Amino acid sequence: MTHHPTTPSGHPGVAELISFIDASPTPYHAVATAQALLDGAGFFALDPLHHWDAEEVAQPAYVVRDGSIIAWVPGQDRSADAALRIIGAHTDSPGLRVRPRPDRSTAGWRQLGIEVYGGALRNSWLDRDLGLAGRVAVRADAVRDDGSDTASHYEDRIAPPQRHGHPASTHLTFRTAGAVMRVPQLAIHLDRDVSTAGLVLNPQQHLTPVWGLGEATDGGFRRFLAEQVGVEPTDVIAWDAMAFDVQPSSVIGVDGELLAAPRLDDLACCWGAIRSLIDTSKVDLPPEHTAVVVLNDHEEVGSTTATGADGAWLAQVLERRAAALGGERVDLLRSLADSMLASADMAHATHPNYPERHEPQHHIRSGGGPVIKHNVNARYATESRGAAAFRTACEHAGVHIQEYSHRGDLPCGSTIGPLTAAQLAIDTVDVGMAMLSMHSVRELMAVADVEPMRSAFAAWFRSP
Ligand code: ZN
Repeated sequence: MTHHPTTPSGHPGVAELISFIDASPTPYHAVATAQALLDGAGFFALDPLHHWDAEEVAQPAYVVRDGSIIAWVPGQDRSADAALRIIGAHTDSPGLRVRPRPDRSTAGWRQLGIEVYGGALRNSWLDRDLGLAGRVAVRADAVRDDGSDTASHYEDRIAPPQRHGHPASTHLTFRTAGAVMRVPQLAIHLDRDVSTAGLVLNPQQHLTPVWGLGEATDGGFRRFLAEQVGVEPTDVIAWDAMAFDVQPSSVIGVDGELLAAPRLDDLACCWGAIRSLIDTSKVDLPPEHTAVVVLNDHEEVGSTTATGADGAWLAQVLERRAAALGGERVDLLRSLADSMLASADMAHATHPNYPERHEPQHHIRSGGGPVIKHNVNARYATESRGAAAFRTACEHAGVHIQEYSHRGDLPCGSTIGPLTAAQLAIDTVDVGMAMLSMHSVRELMAVADVEPMRSAFAAWFRSP
């Protein structure tokens, strides 16, 4: 009899996390999914183009910009200089993104030109059934306000609530219902050394997906997008389109202990942050300090963008919030002096097949609880102040934590923590959940780490 563990009993958040991930093939979808959860919990949607007043910001509220979102639950002290307890995470994941002139054909195959986004494990994208998702900028007059031009099967067509002063166009998100392409690996008979010399994938030559047969015609991708969002091809102006693995997330393992999913880095932490913020909003007694979540786009490409962690957006939103509460910039600066950030991004579990790649005194176990990430060269922002705050918050919640330190002879990755810490001059701790296969199209974490993450984040919002 085949064993198919599907019910992660005792882990109620896992099904929620799975639906969050599967609904979010792109940063825009991740934000829309988070937005839907916040709307369902009664959060107020702030319009970035409008004036914010005290009443609007002194309630659970959020503001969206492209693939990023900031949300908060006010603390007991609602003055503009009151401290913040922030959790940051990122909405983007490495992968394949479609070029502006993608239509091409070779040897009887129709192909789509892509660029590699971020530090993808390229091999993992081979021989996967891939869908396409993203957003399309269309001429504004192509979209009627009554939505009557919307074909019913475009379930993911969402107009974001803001237009950023570009009234000539509007953005529509899209997602193919199934797989439309694949990056085929070269047969072993034509690549005899692959298993001994290793697989080398040139991102220009070897990762171009096939999505049909015959000759590509110019404008083929534009026509495809037009059909996806229900407009004429001439109304498609620009796009941010990317590939995703159509295989849904699943609970696997002989005893159902493992969660195999795409984009765990960092949608697991995005879900954990939003979920625990909603949990915080539902408790009768507000937290002492204001709880804030920021989910940034563009972490995988360095974060220096309008909506990335190395940009001005979070500081701007916090300043507007302080102003709406009747404060001045100096009140926000006083608030930040007493505020703390937990930057939540996934962490490396010790790999069973490569234990020697890990620092021997800092092995990390999947299922062992949240990880505090340390690096004296500030690849992680953690210093003893932030580490102590997170550790005591977790102790208070009865959550076991682990501590990660990278091998001294391997370059360490980084995350949003050091960047947000630098932008805001704020005490920061870098944390995450243990996982394997980071930056693969399909990653792996322990089911048992999901609820402790939620408890740890909720405890962080309430930390003194
Ligand atoms: Zn990450």
